[in-house]
Parts: sequence; C-alpha cells; structure tokens
Amino acid sequence: MDFTVFDTPQPAVGPAQAEQIAVAVYGVGGVASPLAGERDRSFRIDGDRGSYVLKIGNRGDRPDALEAQAAAMAHALAFDPSLPLPRVIPTPDGDPVGSHDGYLLQLTEHIDGAAPVERDTPPGLRRSLGSLAGRLSIALRGYDHAALHRLFPWDLTKLPQLAPLLDHVPTERRSVLAEALATFEARVLPALGRLGGQPVHGDLHDDNIVVDPDDPERVIGLFDFGDMSWGPRAIELAVTTTYQCFGTDPAQAMAQVVSAFHVADPLHPAEMALVPGLVAGRCVQSLLMAARHLATHPDNAEYAAGDAENMWDTLNRLLAVDQETVVERVLRACGFGFPSPTDPLALRRERLGPTLSLSYDNPVHPERGVGVWLIEHDGRRLLDAYNNVPQVGHAHPEVVSALTAQARRLSTNTRYLVDEVVAYADQLAGLFPDPLGVVMFTNSGSEANDLAYQIARAVTEGQGVITTAHAYHGTTSATAAMSPEEYQSPPHAVTVGGEETLRRADAADVLGGQLAEATRVLESREETPAMMICDTVFSSEGIFDLPHGYLRTARKWAVETGALLVADEVQAGFGRVGPRFWGFAADEVVPDIVTLGKPMGNGYPMGAVVTTAAIAERFAARWHFFSTFAGSPLAAAAGMAVLDVIEGEGLAGQADRVGAYLRRGIAALAHPGIAAVRGPGLFIGVELADAGTTHRVVEEMRERGVLIGSTGPGDNVLKIRPPLVFTEHHADILLDRLAGVLDQI
Ligand code: PMP
Repeated sequence: MDFTVFDTPQPAVGPAQAEQIAVAVYGVGGVASPLAGERDRSFRIDGDRGSYVLKIGNRGDRPDALEAQAAAMAHALAFDPSLPLPRVIPTPDGDPVGSHDGYLLQLTEHIDGAAPVERDTPPGLRRSLGSLAGRLSIALRGYDHAALHRLFPWDLTKLPQLAPLLDHVPTERRSVLAEALATFEARVLPALGRLGGQPVHGDLHDDNIVVDPDDPERVIGLFDFGDMSWGPRAIELAVTTTYQCFGTDPAQAMAQVVSAFHVADPLHPAEMALVPGLVAGRCVQSLLMAARHLATHPDNAEYAAGDAENMWDTLNRLLAVDQETVVERVLRACGFGFPSPTDPLALRRERLGPTLSLSYDNPVHPERGVGVWLIEHDGRRLLDAYNNVPQVGHAHPEVVSALTAQARRLSTNTRYLVDEVVAYADQLAGLFPDPLGVVMFTNSGSEANDLAYQIARAVTEGQGVITTAHAYHGTTSATAAMSPEEYQSPPHAVTVGGEETLRRADAADVLGGQLAEATRVLESREETPAMMICDTVFSSEGIFDLPHGYLRTARKWAVETGALLVADEVQAGFGRVGPRFWGFAADEVVPDIVTLGKPMGNGYPMGAVVTTAAIAERFAARWHFFSTFAGSPLAAAAGMAVLDVIEGEGLAGQADRVGAYLRRGIAALAHPGIAAVRGPGLFIGVELADAGTTHRVVEEMRERGVLIGSTGPGDNVLKIRPPLVFTEHHADILLDRLAGVLDQI
C-alpha cells in the first residue's frame, strides 16, 4: 500500500500566507480561515467579491491529483448542472490548478449553507444523501483519469492490503477487525469483482456537505473530491450509507439511503445485497486508518479519533445482527424480495375475508407478468387470454417507466395546476367525436358510472335508470343498483334488451318498444328517466356485437324523454373493438356520457367520465366534483403511456386482425360443443352448446396453461379478452388447447 501522501506533512501554510497566495495566484483578496483536512490544507477566503475555498495540495500527492478532481467536478456538473457541487475557479491563465512555491492549488466557490445536525440524523437527510450519491454516481460514470487508478488506502477494493495496519489497533479490538477483514476478503470482494468500475467520490458524509438552513434535510453543497477512486458504484453507496448508520439501527439507515440511491440510479439486487458487507468493510478501513494515523501522527490524535468510535459501534451493531435479515430489509425498501406467505390461501381467507371469490379451482398464483404471460411462483407460464386491464400487456415497459418517473417527480391532486393531467385529458378528448370533450377523472369504472348517474340526475332531474337485462356497471351503491347481473330488483332501474333481444336481427326495433315500456314503468312509479346505460360489448350478457341501430334507437329515445345516453366503455374501450376505438362508434352515435375504466391505466387504478361541455356546465352549476386520487399526475402518466403504446404499436388494428383470426379459428374447429362465436375485436364470446361444460372447459384450459373466463346469464359463454398485444401466434396456442379440451369434454 502507498502511504506516501499520508506520511508527508500537511502543507505548512498559515492563514496569512493563504491570503497572500489567493491574491498572488488568483487575484482574490480576503480573510482566510482554516478548514479541517487530512492531507491537504484548506482555507475559506472571505473577500469583497464573495467567498472561496483555497486548497493547498499535499506535496506527497500525485502531481495530477488536483487536476483529476477539478476535471471530475466539471464533468459531473456538465452532465447534471443541478448537482450541488462547487465550481472550480481557474487561474487568470485559465488553468484549473494553480501553483505557488512548489504547492499545487485549487480554488473553488464556497457554497454557503448550514452544517447538518450532528445527532439524530433525520431520515429525510439520509434520503437526500442517498439520492445525491445516486445522482453523483450517474454524473461521474463517463469520467476517467489515471489518478483514480492509483494505489490508495481509501480505495475499499484494496482493503485487504491494509491488513498490516492491524498491528496498530488496540489489542482488544484486533481480533474483531481481523475477522471482519477476512470475511470481507472471502465474501464481499469476489462479488465486488463482478461489478464494473467507475469514478467513486468515496467520502460522502456530513463533514463534506452543507444543507439548506431553511430545509435542513436538503443538501445544497458537496465538496472534497480528494478521496476519489475507481470502483463499483456500490462503494459510493456503501460509504455514504456507513456514516448514516452511526448511532442508529443499521438496517433501517441502509434501507433509507439505499432506496433513495436506487430511485436516482437504479441498482441491481446483487449490488444492494453487498451493502451490509461493504459498510462493515468501510468501518474496518476507517478504524485501521485511524489506528495508523494515531501511530504516525500522535500530535493530531483528535483528527485520528474522528469517527473511530462511531465506526466501531456501527461495525459491532452490524456484526450482532443476521446479515440475511439486513439484506432482506434493504431489498424490501427497494421493492425487491417480497416475502411469500407459507400458506397464501389460508392467509388470504383469513385476512381478505370471505366476500372475495377466487378464480379457478386451482387458483392462479402469479409472481409476475410480462406481455400476454403471467408467470406463477413455480415458474409456470400461463397465456393470459382473459385480462383486459393490462391492455397493452403486463408490465409494459413504457407504462412502468412513465409511472416510476412520475412517482419520482410528483404525485398530487387536481386542485393544483398540473400540466400532466391537462395534457392527458386533452389527448384523451381528441379520441372522441364532438361535442364530447370534457374529461372528469375517477378512480374506477364503478365511480365513473356512479358519477355519470349523479350528472344525469342533476341535469335531467329524473331518478330512473334504464339498463340491460343482465348488465354489470359497478360496485358502488348506486351502480350496484343498476347491475342486474349481481343484484335483483334494483330500486330505480328498469331493464331492457338482454340476451333474447340481442340475438334478434331486429334488436334495434325491439329495443324501441322496450324503452317505451320501461319509460311507462318508471312513470307508473312517478319517476322520470335520468339515463339509459349500455355496456357496448354486453360483456355480462354473454358478449354480443352491438346490433345495428341499437344505440341510435336509444339516442332517439333519450332525445324524446330528455334522459341522457351513457355508453359504458369500461370493458369495450381503448381499441379492444378495433380501430374505431370505442364500442359506441359502431353505431355512429354520440352518447351524452362515456364512462371509462379498467384498461385505461394498464393496471393503475383510474376511470373517467367523458361528456360534453354543455352537460358539464349544467352539472357544475349544481354540484361540485372532486375525488382525491382521481386524475393524479400518476394516473395521467399511466394513461398517456397507454394511449401512446396503443397508437405506437398499432394495437387497435391488431385487436381487429387477431380477433378476426381467432374467431375464424374457433369457428373452423367446427366442434359440436360450440354453438356460436361472436364479439368485436379482441372481445370474443364462445357460446357452448351445453352450459354444463363451461366450468370444466375454463378449468381445463387453465390446467393447460391458458386463462379464459365465462359469462352470460346462463354462464354458457367462454369469455376471451386478452391484452391487445396478443398475436396470431398466441391465438394458435389458444386454439390448440381449446380443441384439445373440447375433444376431451
Ligand atoms: N362497467 C362494466 C361494463 C364493467 O364490466 C365493470 C367491471 N367489471 C365496471 C363498470 C366497474 O369497474 P370497476 O370494477 O373497475 O369499478
């Protein structure tokens, strides 16, 4: 190990001489006051033109050391100008490194700020430091300099070379340090060696930062690049973490620093898992260096003692706890390593209550999803031909990235002027025919329908709802009362249409008569209709194509009665029915209100009411509407990503094409068990000849690795409704399995 710079005395320069040097070399006059340091000598210079820090380099250091530091700071600032680093002031000749009397010099801006609190570091400051370390790590990544590759005792990758320093350590501590050193060499170094290198500041702690006096958890200055070395960024992370473990539970402190670093510069779990070992290593390194300093500079014992007691305490706290538990805590803080319950089924029953049903006799136990696949904990891949929430595919990278980037930046509510929400509403409104152009955000499809009913009542002053015979529109009290699929005899609802009607060629005409009758029923109850609501793919009726003229009939009725026509696009919307994008568009009718949900955020919970400006005005005159989470920037980010992907990947066209392919394929099976195949785009209903077989078909498909569902008043219709990224290839898999299952049953 090379200790030259540590054995060369600090520059013998006092404040008076520092003042002279500042004037002579930089033309900067001012009063010098000394700052603490290990090898160099630094002064704060307060002059008329501001404050600076003058660093006088150690003569034992490499001649290019200061140049490497100045270039590193410049590099990082050029990459990320928002980093709180001081700017280097060059000499009048433009040289970033000055010289005087054989000393090399560096002048930087002085960043005015407060020293962080010494005790009980707030978690917010830990997170600030973690975040800063991550941002710095990215900003330094493209930088390199020969001086970073020097043999240097503060380089944690060289820790084993400090073993001879154990001789300086008090005997009672020696064996603990020796053992920790051996563990580091055996367990940590090999894993570290598998990670790539980059510049590491290596000294990010309270003495090298200042914070905002008005916000003491915000770091506004980071300095001292004198300990830079070359190594994995995990070292930056671990060094930063070490000091934050002082006097506290190390696992908790690690969770705080590492998660913040991870948000700024995403880490691999393998890097996170190294943190406890690296922190222990840093403690050992610091204790060995302190012991050496004390032995070689007994005059400067105070400096040597510095952090030693904290390091010793932290090391012992770490050694006292199970490393795996600490790693688990860190991984969890970063969203990894979620613990699986030993009996998830029993725990589910106990904790989620009996009201939730579970799909499939052999429950699906997914661990992750990607595209059209759900992957179970045992590694089994299931082709997802059922879920329309992940409209653009499970874990679509554009949606995930949009959400995570937005979560990092801002999540707030619609009472503020949030650009993301307005921009998204504008993009969404562009997908509707005039005069539909006002978007009111909700958190779900149920809430959207609930709000639609509230609007309809306010605008029409009626109470009655007309709905289709076996419809489902939501789970709130009001929407449950218009969902005959789940609840019989809802108080304000009268039903029309239904399976029987939908099968008829003259369904639109039949509907006309039914609407007139329903209106009379409402009148007999001394009610007037507020709205008619229609799920445009009739998903719970057994899946039907919108009969020709059906919504036009409804539109005509609405105009005559003054009621509103509500198209529930919670199931049908967002390209599933093909390029016409919305179910209602098949009939060239513009509803008064369109409600949205399920696929809107690809899994982010969001819904909306889309209506006309006139209706929105009339509603606003009587009611105020606000829902805390609805229309958050997160929702907007997810929603925008979904629209971009649908458009960018041509998914509406694909839904049309693959849907037709799949329907043709099912029809071509010409299986006697199949009575009919129908539905628009990728919303396919397969009516079975024998309702008694539906359950077995669905279960057997699941056993063969394909998820589908069932629907309809007689539960005799297979429901096939995959993410829109479903291709002909996936359709072939489904067809093959379906043929096999039908033959068997
Ligand atoms: N409308 C329709 C047509 C639906 O199918 C559903 C849900 N299946 C809803 C509304 C309610 O949506 P959510 O469960 O997201 O509130």
